[in-house]
Amino acid sequence: MENPTRAQVVIVGGGPAGISTALFLSHAAPELRERIVVLEKEHYPREKFCAGGVGARADKLLSSIGVTVDVPSVALNGVAFRAMGRTTVVRDGDIGRVVRRIEFDHELARVAMERGISVLQGVRVEHVRRVGERVELETSRGKLRPSVVVAADGVGSVVRRALGFVSTTYHAQALEIDTEPVESDLPRDVILFDASHRELPGYYWDFPTLVAGKEMVCRGVYLLRSGEQTPKVQIQDVLAQELEQRGLSLGRYRKKRFAERGFEAHRPTAQPGVVLVGEAAGIDPVTGEGIAQAIQYGATAGRYLARCLREERFEMSDWSEVVAADSVGRDLRVREKGVSLFYGDIRPNVEHFLHSSPEFVKLGLQHFAGKPWSRADMARAGMLALGHTARWAASRATGLGRLP
Ligand SMILES: Cc1cc2nc3c(=O)[nH]c(=O)nc-3n(C[C@H](O)[C@H](O)[C@H](O)COP(=O)(O)OP(=O)(O)OC[C@H]3O[C@@H](n4cnc5c(N)ncnc54)[C@H](O)[C@@H]3O)c2cc1C
Repeated sequence: MENPTRAQVVIVGGGPAGISTALFLSHAAPELRERIVVLEKEHYPREKFCAGGVGARADKLLSSIGVTVDVPSVALNGVAFRAMGRTTVVRDGDIGRVVRRIEFDHELARVAMERGISVLQGVRVEHVRRVGERVELETSRGKLRPSVVVAADGVGSVVRRALGFVSTTYHAQALEIDTEPVESDLPRDVILFDASHRELPGYYWDFPTLVAGKEMVCRGVYLLRSGEQTPKVQIQDVLAQELEQRGLSLGRYRKKRFAERGFEAHRPTAQPGVVLVGEAAGIDPVTGEGIAQAIQYGATAGRYLARCLREERFEMSDWSEVVAADSVGRDLRVREKGVSLFYGDIRPNVEHFLHSSPEFVKLGLQHFAGKPWSRADMARAGMLALGHTARWAASRATGLGRLP
């Protein structure tokens, strides 16, 4: 689009949430394609600090509208969970892949452009203000006042801040580096989540990755902060310790640090003429997983906006309910509840449960992969959780406090 002032929908941010919104919207309402524009402040290929683990459910969702993101990837067939001095590996084929965001986001944007969607690169939204029912965007290329603004501008969302959306409680810090593999690494089709550092409301990770075709490992630490709470540990110290155990030294590698925003179901994510998607809205606070969620948000937003535009209904008051009723909202509500389980007082029991119930972990993997759950599997996992909770409650009642 030569002239973005003609756009009816302006999507701020060309990451997975923004580009997916554009793709799903133009799929649901091809007649609107000419009226959609994505504004991206960077030029592709642009870097995004991220470990690049993508659940296969994201690729399946994109393929439902004929989109394939064909980039170098490490295929995943399992997950390893480390805590209490033990490592449990659970396998289930084809659960997802590890990508490099510099390649993945570029390719996703290329596919969108190939489909006729305007993705304007090097255009930054600098100021945002409400003018009646509409929102005015002051960009590095002039002012826009579209019918709908989609805030897909990530954790530091200028749209979110400028329009006074309440700040979320869950903020995470993540620090990562890419190193060569070492002998103690797990097989390259498995990602490791290590919860051994009990003082860390988070985990250490090892994700196999490909950097310019070379086999490397992305290693990092995720730390979830609730409110103004000061962390008891520094992620840099945890990363340094883990590296030392692997015979590596933190000082040798380029450190990539970035924030994340955790989802909270009760926070507003829309105003007249504006919806928040992806990390601008909030992603999984437990693990910091956000790529698949960003794509799921995009699918939900695309379908929703097609309806709103056809009906010329721009108050967006039902956006939060639409998210809640869709797979992305259901997924994120469960994960929000998981914060107190994983990082609260009963953490040791949760760790014990995960080690002793690989069937349960397998259900999680199947969800990550977008595989259907069988009733029998769900029933078995439910029984396991109930049995574990009952034994835990009994052990507390008898004063033993912890499961054997
Ligand atoms: C260290 C780290 C590791 C992670 N590892 C994983 C992982 O392994 N798996 C996983 O699923 N998730 C991971 N995440 C989370 C994941 O990276 C994000 O949740 C995901 O990128 C969110 O997608 P998004 O499209 O909402 O936002 P982003 O990917 O952040 O995209 C936002 C886009 O908006 C653009 N933008 C911002 N401001 C403006 C502006 N004012 N004007 C125009 N454009 C603008 C940005 O340039 C960017 O392209 C990780 C995060 C971190 C920090």
